[in-house]
Amino acid sequence: MFSRLNVGVLALQGDFERHLFRLSALKVSPREVRQKDDLSGLDGLIIPGGESTTLNLLIDRFDIRGKLAEFSAHKAVWGTCAGLIMLARQVNDPQIQTLGIIDISVVRNAYGRQVHSFYSIIEANLNGKMVPLEVSFIRAPIVKNYGNNIKVLAQYRGSPTLLSHQNCLVSSFHTELHDDLTLTKYFLENFVSVFK
Ligand code: GLN
Repeated sequence: MFSRLNVGVLALQGDFERHLFRLSALKVSPREVRQKDDLSGLDGLIIPGGESTTLNLLIDRFDIRGKLAEFSAHKAVWGTCAGLIMLARQVNDPQIQTLGIIDISVVRNAYGRQVHSFYSIIEANLNGKMVPLEVSFIRAPIVKNYGNNIKVLAQYRGSPTLLSHQNCLVSSFHTELHDDLTLTKYFLENFVSVFK
């Protein structure tokens, strides 16, 4: 069903392998994206978790910022954790120049350090149904503000953790570390297939 979709994962740094693995489990043959030409012909892109300061530097070093912003403005894009930070309008760290794709402002590492990482099951509103998701928060950011047009699909302790606007989906947590393919499937069905 998803085998005809061309989906890339930004593979400069961080947790890209797990996303590649989850996409393959859903019969997508994913592409590792490192150069701007790697974005050609893609229907969707995942920007994985990792370290947003490093990701920010590598995006410039690999000279992919312009093409990445252009792609993310129109095509399906899902940012997880550091990926969410990169897609945000604003972050509380002047070292990072975000891509400004989704109208959210975020605070980095807002749940504490690596040792404060945690696993949880949260409920997300996916197509009008409340669905459980297995998630991990790893030095996750918190979304402090968001625009009126943003959909909040899930919250954790009062803070939005899964949000979307048009072609863009962002999550402050990781699902790709778990066997649960729900959110990857949701991205393919509701974003990649729609904004092709
Ligand atoms: N703390 C990282 C950052 O601010 C994000 C962590 C993650 O992607 N799991 O870049």
